[in-house]
Amino acid sequence: MNALICPVCQKSKLVIYLNKDNRYNYRCKCSVNFFFKEDPPALHSLLIAKIDTHGLFCSKRLIFFVNALTQQLEIICDTCDYFSCL
Ligand SMILES: [Zn+2]
Ligand SMILES: [Zn+2]
Repeated sequence: MNALICPVCQKSKLVIYLNKDNRYNYRCKCSVNFFFKEDPPALHSLLIAKIDTHGLFCSKRLIFFVNALTQQLEIICDTCDYFSCL
């Protein structure tokens, strides 16, 4: 499986750990640290699907960040009202 590039910094590869509660913990050198219930291939296809969906009606780049409270990845767009939480 190819390593996933961190969606936040777009530079480093995400390191993946399987947590005790069977959620996956994704970490990056840029200090990104979030949880997602599914494995890297599922995360990857979900991200692609979200980017594609947003790209149908908006040409701006999506912004990815980690919600510090929930430790989940969130996706927003400055230009349109797009918001998505994994
Ligand atoms: Zn990163
Ligand atoms: Zn947009």
